[in-house]
Amino acid sequence: MKKMKSSAGNVRNTNNDLMHEILVKIFLCLNVVDVAVASLVCKSWNKASREPSLWNKIDLSTLGSYCFRKPLNKIEAYRHSSLKMTQFLKHVLDLSNGSTTCLIFNFYVYLTNEQFILVAQGTPKLKRVVLPETGDFSRGVVETVMSLWSCLESITITSGVSGYYTLLAIGKYCNNITEMKFSQGCYFEEKHAVAMAKHTPKLKILSIRTVATSVKALFCVLRFLEHLEKVNICHSLIMDTAYPGTVFVDIRELRRRFPASSVEKLLYCERGSCLRCINGRDTTPSRQPDGPYEDIWGEDEITSLAHLPQPS
Ligand SMILES: [Zn+2]
Repeated sequence: MKKMKSSAGNVRNTNNDLMHEILVKIFLCLNVVDVAVASLVCKSWNKASREPSLWNKIDLSTLGSYCFRKPLNKIEAYRHSSLKMTQFLKHVLDLSNGSTTCLIFNFYVYLTNEQFILVAQGTPKLKRVVLPETGDFSRGVVETVMSLWSCLESITITSGVSGYYTLLAIGKYCNNITEMKFSQGCYFEEKHAVAMAKHTPKLKILSIRTVATSVKALFCVLRFLEHLEKVNICHSLIMDTAYPGTVFVDIRELRRRFPASSVEKLLYCERGSCLRCINGRDTTPSRQPDGPYEDIWGEDEITSLAHLPQPS
């Protein structure tokens, strides 16, 4: 009798294990919000939703407007932060239990200083982060967040944070940065390049695509970061600050000024070959579409720095 009971118990356990495994496989196909909702259904679903393999990567970038209402403009985005967002982040961080190594924010999410710290506290093993596009984080908060992300290896800096303060904080707390990207909307200036030479000496990959930068900043990066292997400058506006006014420099000019070993490290667009470059230099308001901005944010010619599917 005892044996029968034990055998029935074993079958039940096997069934439970099988159910758990199937649930985890299904949850792996869902987005973060769906898994968070599924975790509230019952005990067994909640247990499955806590499986660490579901939380290696938290990708909020693919969520549609049903999750984050698209703001009409950037100013409206600033009003988006809410109690609901804090509750959502707390719940997701509780499920992930600190196992996340890659975190990608949504383009439209607006985080407060408190929410930014909350996220950093819940992701102590983070190696790669794509910061939110909108935000207004104080210098102290950027420093606190970076102190909590000491394992960080790859970061995408957006116009939502001060690139310069972030670099200073990285210099203090994150000694393993090998990949960095400044996304569209940022200016990559000489002071950033100098700070990088000091604070991210192990940097191998840099993307400053679709940003405004200068010959001096580029020179500084190529000259002083000795481990640098690739610099993506596709679609960027490279200004020559040696001249009064704005003079754009193209790859032919960079070839003339930089040593061949430096030019070899550059990923660039040939003059006139790219519609994005042509439109980017056209300042007519009607040629400045808002639409593709979100896509541009997720693209990169360097695969490890892209986080949206690449156009074929
Ligand atoms: Zn281009």
